[in-house]
Amino acid sequence: DAEVEGAPAAARERHAELAELAEEANWRYYVLDSPTVSDAQYDGWMGELRELEQEHPDLRTPDSPTQKVGAPISTEFAAVDHLQRMESLDNAFDEADLIGWQARAERLAEADPGPYLCELKIDGLAVALLYEKGRLVRAATRGDGRTGEDVTPNVRTVKGVPHRLKGADVPDLVEVRGEVFLPVEGFRRLNEQLMDVGRPPFANPRNSAAGSLRQKDPRVTAQRPLRMIVHGVGKWEGAEPPVTQSQMYDRLQGLGLPVSDRYRVVRSLDEIREFIGYYNEHRHDPEYEIDGVVVKVDRVTVQRQLGSTSKAPRWAIAFKYPPEEVTTKLRDIQVGV
Ligand code: NAD
Repeated sequence: DAEVEGAPAAARERHAELAELAEEANWRYYVLDSPTVSDAQYDGWMGELRELEQEHPDLRTPDSPTQKVGAPISTEFAAVDHLQRMESLDNAFDEADLIGWQARAERLAEADPGPYLCELKIDGLAVALLYEKGRLVRAATRGDGRTGEDVTPNVRTVKGVPHRLKGADVPDLVEVRGEVFLPVEGFRRLNEQLMDVGRPPFANPRNSAAGSLRQKDPRVTAQRPLRMIVHGVGKWEGAEPPVTQSQMYDRLQGLGLPVSDRYRVVRSLDEIREFIGYYNEHRHDPEYEIDGVVVKVDRVTVQRQLGSTSKAPRWAIAFKYPPEEVTTKLRDIQVGV
């Protein structure tokens, strides 16, 4: 009847409308480093898109924003293909989402997927470093996950990123992924400097890091106090790869890469909750801004077994903290580039 036929049309229209809003936001966020809506608003649109697609699976086409990572790259930079796809993370906004994630992992692994590694979700921008025979030969942004922007000269200026790996057992080739960020203090100072010369400040540390790294002139990047923390690997060749996420961090640290020590390997959901609760209370202890906690299955064999969806690993989940007042207020002011 008319009502049954009318509902999909309305759903299709709403879906198209939300998809357009999300694409526009992606472009402003990833390409211009200058978002005009809050992350909470954006996450709301994405949630509604996913619900619509759940109800009407024909709306879930490969070009839907729910199926894609990031955004196409800027023409300001050369394009580089990642050796292994860079993914996003699925989000959990509450306890039920977290329980759902763990239950699904348990079902797919047909066993207890634990232990888990809990760590901080750094609000920076994702960058991949490629080391060949221990030398940093390339650095790229995530882009759409397959193709990123070549930012090698810029990343070479980031303090703490080794140009050469150290140690006896250096892999022939390794892709290392991590987050480039501006420490909160550096962000404050940069915004003061920008405002002193009459330029608009950045909305938040994430945008200031992305805007600082993605400069045509790497000398500008060199003046910004950027840092990096690594939290994953892609392709790994020519040395025995680590068997757990936590061992991988020890290994990466041994190679001279900057790794966070704010992580904990836990066995149970209760302990995951405890970690999330602790950093909810101590959100400003780290020198960088965090927007949540990432929970990863620690064992690489189980990670492989769980695999990935079209855009995110099933073996990890990002628990997002609710947005803070100050960030929302800052977002109301004009955003700098
Ligand atoms: P995401 O930021 O939610 O999560 C994925 C990213 O987290 C990874 O790429 C990785 O680099 C990073 N990350 C940080 N710490 C990590 C750790 N310890 N381990 C693993 N990964 C870690 O996803 P996304 O796809 O980059 O972006 C989507 C989010 O970006 C949205 O939820 C929204 O908050 C924001 N966004 C906002 C707008 C806007 O207009 N305001 C537009 C687009 C996206």
